[in-house]
Amino acid sequence: MSDCLFCKIAEGQIPSNKVYEDELVYAFRDINPQAKTHVLIIPRKHIGSCAEINGENSKIIAHIFEVIPKIAKSEGLVNGFRVISNCGPDACQSVHHLHFHILGGEQMSDKMA
Ligand code: AMP
Ligand code: ZN
Repeated sequence: MSDCLFCKIAEGQIPSNKVYEDELVYAFRDINPQAKTHVLIIPRKHIGSCAEINGENSKIIAHIFEVIPKIAKSEGLVNGFRVISNCGPDACQSVHHLHFHILGGEQMSDKMA
């Protein structure tokens, strides 16, 4: 998508603090971290949100979930981590390119919302 912030980050048109990349996904540090470690992982292909996951693109999602433990390991999240994806207005999604937040490096609240 031409006017999508995360498409531009994945393409290198907007700078980011890269954590991991391969042919399908890109991961980078959140600009406004909500935990000691806060990484975002996105598909290179534009998918709007979790609501747009389907049989055509779910292999990319499976790949994202294979990469997440690698990132958690490389970030030293030995004591656990949280994976979140905000989808739509009720969940306060602010960037409309599917992303999974990987949060950790400290004890987090037992409340998710
Ligand atoms: P969400 O509110 O779930 O859509 O998450 C969007 C996330 O993107 C927020 O945590 C923002 O801090 C983060 N974000 C926005 N712009 C950038 C950027 N240029 N680089 C890194 N993270 C960003
Ligand atoms: Zn996009």
